Amino acid sequence: MFGKVLIANRGEIACRIMQACRELGLRTVAVFSEADRNSLHVQTADEAVCIGPPPNKESYLNVANIISACKVTRADAVHPGYGNLSEDPTFADACQECGITFVGPPAHVIARMGDKAEARRVVREAGIPVVPGSPGAVSDVRDARDIGAQLGYPVMLKAVSGGGGRGIRIAHNPAHLTQLFEQARSEARAAFGNGHLYVEKYLEQPRHVEVQVLADAHGQVVHLGERECSIQFRHQKVLEESPAPGVSSSLRRRMGEAAVKAAEAVGYVNAGTIEFLLDNRGRFYFIEMNTRIQVEHTVTEMVTGIDIVREQIKIAAGEKLSCEQGRIWFNGHAIECRLLAADGERGLLPSPGTITRWAVPCGPGVRVDTGVTAGSVVSSYYDPMIAKVVCWDRTRPEAITRMEATLRGMQVEGIKTTIPLHLRILRNAYFRSGRIDTHFIERRLGEEQPV
Ligand code: ADP
Repeated sequence: MFGKVLIANRGEIACRIMQACRELGLRTVAVFSEADRNSLHVQTADEAVCIGPPPNKESYLNVANIISACKVTRADAVHPGYGNLSEDPTFADACQECGITFVGPPAHVIARMGDKAEARRVVREAGIPVVPGSPGAVSDVRDARDIGAQLGYPVMLKAVSGGGGRGIRIAHNPAHLTQLFEQARSEARAAFGNGHLYVEKYLEQPRHVEVQVLADAHGQVVHLGERECSIQFRHQKVLEESPAPGVSSSLRRRMGEAAVKAAEAVGYVNAGTIEFLLDNRGRFYFIEMNTRIQVEHTVTEMVTGIDIVREQIKIAAGEKLSCEQGRIWFNGHAIECRLLAADGERGLLPSPGTITRWAVPCGPGVRVDTGVTAGSVVSSYYDPMIAKVVCWDRTRPEAITRMEATLRGMQVEGIKTTIPLHLRILRNAYFRSGRIDTHFIERRLGEEQPV
Protein backbone atom coordinates (compact mmCIF):
# COMPACT_ATOMS: atom_id res chain seq x y z
CA MET A 1 0.00 0.00 0.00
CA PHE A 2 1.06 3.59 -0.58
CA GLY A 3 2.17 5.97 2.15
CA LYS A 4 0.84 9.23 0.74
CA VAL A 5 -1.86 10.15 -1.77
CA LEU A 6 -2.19 13.50 -3.55
CA ILE A 7 -5.76 14.45 -4.41
CA ALA A 8 -5.81 16.33 -7.72
CA ASN A 9 -9.21 17.89 -7.15
CA ARG A 10 -11.18 20.27 -4.95
CA GLY A 11 -14.53 20.55 -3.15
CA GLU A 12 -16.60 17.70 -1.80
CA ILE A 13 -14.86 14.94 -3.78
CA ALA A 14 -11.43 15.96 -2.46
CA CYS A 15 -12.80 15.79 1.11
CA ARG A 16 -14.48 12.44 0.37
CA ILE A 17 -11.25 10.92 -0.97
CA MET A 18 -9.30 12.17 2.05
CA GLN A 19 -11.72 10.39 4.37
CA ALA A 20 -11.03 7.10 2.55
CA CYS A 21 -7.27 7.76 2.76
CA ARG A 22 -7.44 8.40 6.51
CA GLU A 23 -9.36 5.17 7.00
CA LEU A 24 -6.61 3.32 5.14
CA GLY A 25 -3.92 5.01 7.25
CA LEU A 26 -2.57 7.05 4.30
CA ARG A 27 -1.30 10.61 4.49
CA THR A 28 -3.00 13.14 2.22
CA VAL A 29 -1.84 16.04 0.08
CA ALA A 30 -4.32 18.65 -1.15
CA VAL A 31 -3.65 20.89 -4.12
CA PHE A 32 -5.37 24.25 -4.39
CA SER A 33 -5.70 27.30 -6.58
CA GLU A 34 -5.21 30.81 -5.22
CA ALA A 35 -9.01 31.10 -4.94
CA ASP A 36 -9.18 28.00 -2.73
CA ARG A 37 -6.51 28.85 -0.16
CA ASN A 38 -9.01 28.72 2.73
CA SER A 39 -11.14 25.87 1.41
CA LEU A 40 -12.23 22.91 3.50
CA HIS A 41 -10.27 20.42 1.40
CA VAL A 42 -7.08 22.36 2.12
CA GLN A 43 -7.78 22.51 5.85
CA THR A 44 -8.52 18.78 6.13
CA ALA A 45 -5.39 17.54 4.30
CA ASP A 46 -2.11 16.67 6.02
CA GLU A 47 -0.24 18.88 3.56
CA ALA A 48 -1.31 21.32 0.86
CA VAL A 49 0.39 22.81 -2.20
CA CYS A 50 -0.72 25.82 -4.24
CA ILE A 51 -0.78 24.92 -7.94
CA GLY A 52 -1.69 28.20 -9.60
CA PRO A 53 -4.15 31.03 -10.21
CA PRO A 54 -7.95 30.55 -9.96
CA PRO A 55 -8.86 29.55 -13.55
CA ASN A 56 -9.10 25.75 -13.82
CA LYS A 57 -6.76 25.67 -16.81
CA GLU A 58 -3.99 27.28 -14.78
CA SER A 59 -4.39 25.20 -11.61
CA TYR A 60 -6.56 22.05 -11.41
CA LEU A 61 -5.82 21.23 -15.07
CA ASN A 62 -2.14 22.16 -14.83
CA VAL A 63 -0.43 18.79 -15.27
CA ALA A 64 3.13 20.08 -14.77
CA ASN A 65 2.27 21.82 -11.51
CA ILE A 66 0.38 18.81 -10.14
CA ILE A 67 3.20 16.41 -11.00
CA SER A 68 5.66 18.82 -9.35
CA ALA A 69 3.46 18.90 -6.25
CA CYS A 70 3.64 15.09 -6.13
CA LYS A 71 7.42 15.22 -6.39
CA VAL A 72 7.85 17.92 -3.76
CA THR A 73 5.62 16.13 -1.26
CA ARG A 74 6.82 12.64 -2.25
CA ALA A 75 3.30 11.38 -2.87
CA ASP A 76 3.16 7.79 -4.16
CA ALA A 77 -0.25 8.04 -5.81
CA VAL A 78 -2.68 10.55 -7.29
CA HIS A 79 -6.45 10.31 -7.00
CA PRO A 80 -8.02 12.53 -9.70
CA GLY A 81 -11.64 12.52 -8.40
CA TYR A 82 -14.14 13.35 -11.16
CA GLY A 83 -14.01 16.10 -13.80
CA ASN A 84 -10.71 18.00 -14.05
CA LEU A 85 -7.95 15.57 -15.09
CA SER A 86 -9.79 12.36 -14.21
CA GLU A 87 -10.41 11.33 -17.82
CA ASP A 88 -7.29 12.80 -19.38
CA PRO A 89 -5.08 9.96 -20.61
CA THR A 90 -2.06 12.26 -20.94
CA PHE A 91 -2.25 12.98 -17.20
CA ALA A 92 -2.51 9.27 -16.33
CA ASP A 93 0.49 8.66 -18.61
CA ALA A 94 2.49 11.53 -17.10
CA CYS A 95 1.91 10.13 -13.59
CA GLN A 96 3.01 6.66 -14.63
CA GLU A 97 6.14 8.03 -16.32
CA CYS A 98 7.08 9.86 -13.13
CA GLY A 99 6.63 6.74 -11.01
CA ILE A 100 3.37 7.95 -9.42
CA THR A 101 0.42 5.56 -9.33
CA PHE A 102 -2.71 6.97 -10.98
CA VAL A 103 -5.82 5.83 -9.08
CA GLY A 104 -7.88 4.90 -12.12
CA PRO A 105 -7.75 2.73 -15.21
CA PRO A 106 -4.72 2.48 -17.54
CA ALA A 107 -4.23 5.51 -19.82
CA HIS A 108 -5.01 3.55 -23.00
CA VAL A 109 -8.38 2.44 -21.57
CA ILE A 110 -9.26 6.04 -20.65
CA ALA A 111 -8.34 7.13 -24.20
CA ARG A 112 -10.39 4.36 -25.78
CA MET A 113 -13.55 4.97 -23.73
CA GLY A 114 -13.07 8.75 -24.01
CA ASP A 115 -13.73 8.36 -27.72
CA LYS A 116 -17.47 7.72 -27.49
CA ALA A 117 -17.76 6.45 -31.06
CA GLU A 118 -14.95 3.95 -30.43
CA ALA A 119 -16.54 2.94 -27.08
CA ARG A 120 -19.81 2.18 -28.88
CA ARG A 121 -17.94 0.03 -31.41
CA VAL A 122 -16.04 -2.01 -28.80
CA VAL A 123 -19.11 -2.56 -26.65
CA ARG A 124 -21.30 -3.50 -29.63
CA GLU A 125 -18.70 -6.03 -30.76
CA ALA A 126 -18.85 -7.56 -27.28
CA GLY A 127 -22.53 -8.33 -27.97
CA ILE A 128 -24.06 -5.56 -25.84
CA PRO A 129 -26.93 -3.51 -27.30
CA VAL A 130 -25.95 0.09 -28.12
CA VAL A 131 -28.29 2.90 -29.20
CA PRO A 132 -28.66 2.54 -33.02
CA GLY A 133 -26.42 5.07 -34.73
CA SER A 134 -23.44 5.77 -36.95
CA PRO A 135 -20.77 3.06 -36.93
CA GLY A 136 -18.15 5.64 -35.95
CA ALA A 137 -17.64 9.39 -36.23
CA VAL A 138 -19.34 10.91 -39.28
CA SER A 139 -17.06 12.54 -41.83
CA ASP A 140 -19.32 15.46 -42.78
CA VAL A 141 -22.89 16.71 -42.83
CA ARG A 142 -23.80 14.53 -45.85
CA ASP A 143 -22.63 11.44 -44.04
CA ALA A 144 -24.70 12.52 -41.00
CA ARG A 145 -27.77 13.00 -43.24
CA ASP A 146 -27.32 9.54 -44.76
CA ILE A 147 -27.28 8.04 -41.26
CA GLY A 148 -30.31 10.17 -40.32
CA ALA A 149 -32.21 8.79 -43.32
CA GLN A 150 -31.36 5.22 -42.30
CA LEU A 151 -32.28 5.69 -38.63
CA GLY A 152 -35.36 7.87 -39.09
CA TYR A 153 -35.76 11.21 -37.29
CA PRO A 154 -35.35 12.55 -34.67
CA VAL A 155 -31.64 11.86 -34.27
CA MET A 156 -29.06 13.14 -31.84
CA LEU A 157 -25.75 14.70 -32.80
CA LYS A 158 -23.09 14.04 -30.17
CA ALA A 159 -19.45 15.00 -29.74
CA VAL A 160 -17.04 12.07 -29.89
CA SER A 161 -15.13 13.56 -26.93
CA GLY A 162 -18.27 14.92 -25.25
CA GLY A 163 -19.23 15.07 -21.62
CA GLY A 164 -21.38 17.01 -19.19
CA GLY A 165 -24.23 17.17 -21.69
CA ARG A 166 -22.34 19.65 -23.90
CA GLY A 167 -22.25 19.45 -27.69
CA ILE A 168 -25.53 17.49 -27.84
CA ARG A 169 -28.17 18.49 -30.45
CA ILE A 170 -31.51 16.93 -31.38
CA ALA A 171 -32.38 17.12 -35.09
CA HIS A 172 -35.98 16.59 -36.21
CA ASN A 173 -35.46 16.44 -39.98
CA PRO A 174 -32.65 16.61 -42.56
CA ALA A 175 -32.80 20.41 -42.91
CA HIS A 176 -32.67 20.80 -39.14
CA LEU A 177 -29.69 18.47 -38.97
CA THR A 178 -27.84 20.51 -41.58
CA GLN A 179 -28.60 23.64 -39.60
CA LEU A 180 -27.31 22.15 -36.30
CA PHE A 181 -24.27 20.31 -37.61
CA GLU A 182 -21.84 23.25 -37.76
CA GLN A 183 -23.04 24.60 -34.40
CA ALA A 184 -22.48 21.23 -32.73
CA ARG A 185 -19.10 20.86 -34.38
CA SER A 186 -17.80 24.25 -33.28
CA GLU A 187 -19.18 23.81 -29.75
CA ALA A 188 -17.42 20.44 -29.53
CA ARG A 189 -14.19 21.91 -30.89
CA ALA A 190 -14.28 24.77 -28.38
CA ALA A 191 -15.23 22.60 -25.39
CA PHE A 192 -13.19 19.45 -26.05
CA GLY A 193 -10.59 20.43 -28.65
CA ASN A 194 -12.13 17.86 -31.02
CA GLY A 195 -14.92 18.65 -33.46
CA HIS A 196 -15.75 15.07 -34.48
CA LEU A 197 -19.41 14.12 -34.16
CA TYR A 198 -21.44 10.90 -34.28
CA VAL A 199 -25.15 10.31 -34.76
CA GLU A 200 -27.55 8.33 -32.56
CA LYS A 201 -31.22 7.53 -32.85
CA TYR A 202 -33.04 9.85 -30.43
CA LEU A 203 -35.03 7.75 -27.98
CA GLU A 204 -38.23 9.62 -27.10
CA GLN A 205 -38.80 8.92 -23.42
CA PRO A 206 -35.89 6.95 -22.07
CA ARG A 207 -34.66 6.54 -18.54
CA HIS A 208 -30.97 6.93 -17.78
CA VAL A 209 -29.94 3.91 -15.74
CA GLU A 210 -26.27 3.16 -15.15
CA VAL A 211 -24.33 0.31 -13.57
CA GLN A 212 -21.33 0.66 -11.25
CA VAL A 213 -18.51 -1.78 -11.85
CA LEU A 214 -15.31 -2.57 -9.98
CA ALA A 215 -12.43 -4.42 -11.62
CA ASP A 216 -9.11 -5.39 -10.09
CA ALA A 217 -5.80 -5.96 -11.86
CA HIS A 218 -6.18 -9.72 -11.34
CA GLY A 219 -9.05 -10.15 -13.77
CA GLN A 220 -11.98 -10.03 -11.35
CA VAL A 221 -14.90 -7.76 -12.34
CA VAL A 222 -18.09 -7.23 -10.32
CA HIS A 223 -21.07 -4.91 -10.57
CA LEU A 224 -22.68 -3.04 -7.68
CA GLY A 225 -26.15 -2.71 -9.15
CA GLU A 226 -27.74 0.21 -10.89
CA ARG A 227 -28.49 3.89 -10.34
CA GLU A 228 -31.46 5.79 -11.67
CA CYS A 229 -30.25 9.14 -13.06
CA SER A 230 -33.24 10.29 -15.12
CA ILE A 231 -33.90 13.44 -13.12
CA GLN A 232 -31.87 15.80 -15.28
CA PHE A 233 -31.79 19.45 -16.28
CA ARG A 234 -30.29 20.08 -19.74
CA HIS A 235 -28.85 16.55 -19.80
CA GLN A 236 -27.18 17.05 -16.41
CA LYS A 237 -28.11 14.93 -13.40
CA VAL A 238 -29.88 16.65 -10.51
CA LEU A 239 -31.05 13.74 -8.31
CA GLU A 240 -30.06 10.07 -8.38
CA GLU A 241 -31.22 6.96 -6.60
CA SER A 242 -30.51 3.29 -6.16
CA PRO A 243 -32.13 0.91 -6.86
CA ALA A 244 -33.90 2.27 -9.97
CA PRO A 245 -37.68 2.27 -9.36
CA GLY A 246 -39.44 -0.67 -10.96
CA VAL A 247 -36.30 -2.47 -12.18
CA SER A 248 -36.90 -6.20 -11.61
CA SER A 249 -34.20 -8.45 -10.24
CA SER A 250 -33.94 -10.18 -13.61
CA LEU A 251 -33.44 -6.85 -15.46
CA ARG A 252 -30.90 -5.84 -12.79
CA ARG A 253 -29.02 -9.08 -13.36
CA ARG A 254 -29.06 -8.67 -17.15
CA MET A 255 -27.87 -5.06 -17.00
CA GLY A 256 -25.23 -6.01 -14.44
CA GLU A 257 -23.96 -8.85 -16.61
CA ALA A 258 -23.85 -6.59 -19.67
CA ALA A 259 -21.87 -3.99 -17.70
CA VAL A 260 -19.37 -6.59 -16.50
CA LYS A 261 -19.01 -7.89 -20.05
CA ALA A 262 -18.38 -4.36 -21.34
CA ALA A 263 -15.73 -3.76 -18.67
CA GLU A 264 -14.06 -7.07 -19.52
CA ALA A 265 -14.14 -6.30 -23.24
CA VAL A 266 -12.08 -3.14 -22.75
CA GLY A 267 -9.65 -4.62 -20.20
CA TYR A 268 -11.01 -2.34 -17.51
CA VAL A 269 -9.29 -1.90 -14.14
CA ASN A 270 -10.58 0.22 -11.19
CA ALA A 271 -14.07 1.72 -10.64
CA GLY A 272 -16.15 2.61 -13.69
CA THR A 273 -19.70 3.22 -14.80
CA ILE A 274 -21.55 1.82 -17.77
CA GLU A 275 -24.37 4.16 -18.77
CA PHE A 276 -27.49 2.81 -20.44
CA LEU A 277 -30.75 4.23 -21.73
CA LEU A 278 -33.72 2.10 -20.72
CA ASP A 279 -36.99 2.16 -22.66
CA ASN A 280 -40.46 1.49 -21.26
CA ARG A 281 -40.35 -2.09 -22.51
CA GLY A 282 -37.30 -3.01 -20.43
CA ARG A 283 -34.84 -2.81 -23.33
CA PHE A 284 -31.54 -1.15 -22.52
CA TYR A 285 -28.86 0.36 -24.75
CA PHE A 286 -25.28 1.36 -23.95
CA ILE A 287 -24.52 5.09 -24.33
CA GLU A 288 -21.10 5.54 -22.76
CA MET A 289 -18.62 4.48 -20.11
CA ASN A 290 -17.25 6.83 -17.46
CA THR A 291 -13.75 5.79 -16.45
CA ARG A 292 -13.67 7.46 -13.03
CA ILE A 293 -15.52 7.80 -9.74
CA GLN A 294 -18.90 9.46 -10.33
CA VAL A 295 -20.65 12.14 -8.32
CA GLU A 296 -23.51 9.75 -7.60
CA HIS A 297 -21.36 6.81 -6.37
CA THR A 298 -22.72 7.58 -2.88
CA VAL A 299 -26.13 5.97 -3.44
CA THR A 300 -24.46 2.71 -4.45
CA GLU A 301 -22.29 2.85 -1.34
CA MET A 302 -25.37 3.30 0.83
CA VAL A 303 -27.22 0.27 -0.58
CA THR A 304 -24.23 -2.09 -0.87
CA GLY A 305 -22.18 -0.99 2.14
CA ILE A 306 -19.09 -1.00 -0.11
CA ASP A 307 -16.75 2.01 0.07
CA ILE A 308 -16.04 2.55 -3.63
CA VAL A 309 -13.25 5.10 -3.11
CA ARG A 310 -11.47 2.77 -0.71
CA GLU A 311 -11.78 -0.02 -3.29
CA GLN A 312 -10.33 2.29 -5.95
CA ILE A 313 -7.24 2.96 -3.85
CA LYS A 314 -6.77 -0.71 -2.98
CA ILE A 315 -7.17 -1.75 -6.62
CA ALA A 316 -4.56 0.86 -7.65
CA ALA A 317 -2.21 -0.59 -5.02
CA GLY A 318 -2.56 -3.99 -6.72
CA GLU A 319 -4.85 -5.60 -4.16
CA LYS A 320 -7.60 -8.01 -5.07
CA LEU A 321 -11.26 -6.96 -4.85
CA SER A 322 -12.58 -7.48 -1.36
CA CYS A 323 -15.98 -8.64 -2.63
CA GLU A 324 -17.17 -11.40 -4.96
CA GLN A 325 -20.34 -10.94 -6.99
CA GLY A 326 -22.23 -13.55 -5.00
CA ARG A 327 -21.50 -11.72 -1.75
CA ILE A 328 -22.72 -8.30 -2.83
CA TRP A 329 -26.11 -7.58 -1.25
CA PHE A 330 -28.45 -4.71 -1.96
CA ASN A 331 -30.20 -3.32 1.05
CA GLY A 332 -32.84 -0.57 1.20
CA HIS A 333 -33.05 2.56 -0.93
CA ALA A 334 -30.80 5.61 -1.27
CA ILE A 335 -31.39 9.02 -2.87
CA GLU A 336 -28.86 11.75 -3.60
CA CYS A 337 -29.69 15.41 -4.17
CA ARG A 338 -26.95 17.46 -5.80
CA LEU A 339 -27.05 20.76 -3.98
CA LEU A 340 -25.95 23.55 -6.27
CA ALA A 341 -25.26 27.16 -5.44
CA ALA A 342 -27.78 28.09 -8.10
CA ASP A 343 -31.26 29.43 -8.56
CA GLY A 344 -33.61 26.52 -9.26
CA GLU A 345 -36.34 28.88 -10.41
CA ARG A 346 -34.12 30.61 -12.97
CA GLY A 347 -32.64 27.82 -15.06
CA LEU A 348 -30.05 26.90 -12.44
CA LEU A 349 -28.34 30.26 -12.82
CA PRO A 350 -25.19 30.07 -10.63
CA SER A 351 -25.35 31.95 -7.34
CA PRO A 352 -21.78 32.54 -6.16
CA GLY A 353 -21.07 34.29 -2.88
CA THR A 354 -20.13 33.73 0.75
CA ILE A 355 -22.03 31.13 2.76
CA THR A 356 -22.95 33.00 5.92
CA ARG A 357 -24.73 30.11 7.63
CA TRP A 358 -24.33 26.36 7.11
CA ALA A 359 -26.05 23.87 9.40
CA VAL A 360 -26.97 20.39 8.23
CA PRO A 361 -29.10 17.86 10.08
CA CYS A 362 -27.70 14.43 10.81
CA GLY A 363 -29.21 11.19 11.97
CA PRO A 364 -29.60 7.59 10.89
CA GLY A 365 -29.40 7.18 7.12
CA VAL A 366 -28.33 10.78 6.47
CA ARG A 367 -25.02 11.57 4.77
CA VAL A 368 -23.83 14.96 3.56
CA ASP A 369 -20.69 15.04 1.39
CA THR A 370 -19.51 18.60 1.14
CA GLY A 371 -16.53 20.85 0.58
CA VAL A 372 -18.02 23.94 2.23
CA THR A 373 -18.86 25.25 5.66
CA ALA A 374 -19.99 28.56 7.16
CA GLY A 375 -17.72 31.29 5.82
CA SER A 376 -16.81 29.41 2.63
CA VAL A 377 -16.74 31.42 -0.56
CA VAL A 378 -18.47 29.81 -3.53
CA SER A 379 -16.43 31.04 -6.46
CA SER A 380 -17.73 31.49 -9.98
CA TYR A 381 -14.55 29.87 -11.28
CA TYR A 382 -15.75 26.36 -10.43
CA ASP A 383 -18.68 23.98 -10.65
CA PRO A 384 -21.55 25.28 -8.47
CA MET A 385 -22.16 21.95 -6.69
CA ILE A 386 -21.51 22.58 -2.99
CA ALA A 387 -22.79 19.39 -1.39
CA LYS A 388 -24.50 16.09 -1.95
CA VAL A 389 -27.26 15.21 0.45
CA VAL A 390 -27.74 11.46 0.55
CA CYS A 391 -30.52 9.70 2.45
CA TRP A 392 -30.97 5.98 2.96
CA ASP A 393 -33.96 4.12 4.36
CA ARG A 394 -35.48 0.67 4.07
CA THR A 395 -37.92 1.57 1.29
CA ARG A 396 -38.17 4.26 -1.42
CA PRO A 397 -41.12 6.10 0.22
CA GLU A 398 -39.24 6.19 3.52
CA ALA A 399 -36.07 7.44 1.81
CA ILE A 400 -38.11 10.21 0.13
CA THR A 401 -39.60 11.22 3.49
CA ARG A 402 -36.17 11.25 5.11
CA MET A 403 -34.74 13.36 2.27
CA GLU A 404 -37.57 15.88 2.51
CA ALA A 405 -37.09 16.21 6.26
CA THR A 406 -33.32 16.59 5.86
CA LEU A 407 -33.58 19.29 3.19
CA ARG A 408 -36.19 21.15 5.24
CA GLY A 409 -33.82 21.05 8.20
CA MET A 410 -30.85 22.50 6.34
CA GLN A 411 -29.90 26.05 7.14
CA VAL A 412 -27.96 27.65 4.31
CA GLU A 413 -27.71 31.40 3.99
CA GLY A 414 -25.76 33.85 1.81
CA ILE A 415 -26.31 32.03 -1.48
CA LYS A 416 -29.27 30.57 -3.35
CA THR A 417 -29.46 26.78 -3.46
CA THR A 418 -31.42 24.09 -5.27
CA ILE A 419 -33.16 22.95 -2.05
CA PRO A 420 -36.55 24.38 -3.19
CA LEU A 421 -36.19 22.63 -6.57
CA HIS A 422 -35.32 19.33 -4.88
CA LEU A 423 -38.31 19.64 -2.55
CA ARG A 424 -40.59 20.17 -5.55
CA ILE A 425 -39.21 17.05 -7.19
CA LEU A 426 -39.60 14.96 -4.02
CA ARG A 427 -43.22 16.11 -3.58
CA ASN A 428 -44.23 15.49 -7.20
CA ALA A 429 -46.75 12.69 -7.64
CA TYR A 430 -45.09 11.33 -10.80
CA PHE A 431 -41.74 11.17 -9.01
CA ARG A 432 -43.24 9.56 -5.94
CA SER A 433 -44.86 6.83 -8.01
CA GLY A 434 -41.64 6.22 -9.97
CA ARG A 435 -43.12 7.42 -13.28
CA ILE A 436 -39.98 9.20 -14.44
CA ASP A 437 -37.91 9.61 -17.56
CA THR A 438 -35.22 12.03 -18.70
CA HIS A 439 -37.86 14.70 -19.47
CA PHE A 440 -39.31 14.67 -15.97
CA ILE A 441 -38.15 18.18 -14.99
CA GLU A 442 -39.31 19.98 -18.15
CA ARG A 443 -42.54 18.00 -18.67
CA ARG A 444 -43.75 16.96 -15.24
CA LEU A 445 -42.48 19.38 -12.65
CA GLY A 446 -44.53 22.36 -13.72
CA GLU A 447 -47.70 20.60 -14.73
CA GLU A 448 -50.91 19.94 -12.82
CA GLN A 449 -50.43 16.79 -10.80
CA PRO A 450 -52.66 13.72 -10.88
CA VAL A 451 -54.45 12.91 -7.66
P1 ADP B 1 -22.62 13.34 -21.76
O1 ADP B 1 -21.40 12.46 -21.82
O2 ADP B 1 -22.42 14.68 -22.37
O3 ADP B 1 -23.23 13.38 -20.41
P2 ADP B 1 -24.44 11.23 -22.63
O4 ADP B 1 -24.20 10.46 -23.87
O5 ADP B 1 -24.09 10.57 -21.34
O6 ADP B 1 -23.69 12.64 -22.74
O7 ADP B 1 -25.96 11.71 -22.57
C1 ADP B 1 -26.42 12.63 -21.60
C2 ADP B 1 -27.94 12.56 -21.50
O8 ADP B 1 -28.53 12.89 -22.77
C3 ADP B 1 -28.50 11.19 -21.16
O9 ADP B 1 -28.52 10.94 -19.79
C4 ADP B 1 -29.90 11.29 -21.75
O10 ADP B 1 -30.75 12.04 -20.90
C5 ADP B 1 -29.68 12.09 -22.99
N1 ADP B 1 -29.43 11.20 -24.15
C6 ADP B 1 -28.23 10.75 -24.57
N2 ADP B 1 -28.35 9.98 -25.68
C7 ADP B 1 -29.67 9.94 -25.98
C8 ADP B 1 -30.43 9.32 -27.02
N3 ADP B 1 -29.86 8.60 -27.98
N4 ADP B 1 -31.78 9.49 -26.99
C9 ADP B 1 -32.37 10.24 -26.04
N5 ADP B 1 -31.72 10.85 -25.05
C10 ADP B 1 -30.36 10.72 -24.99
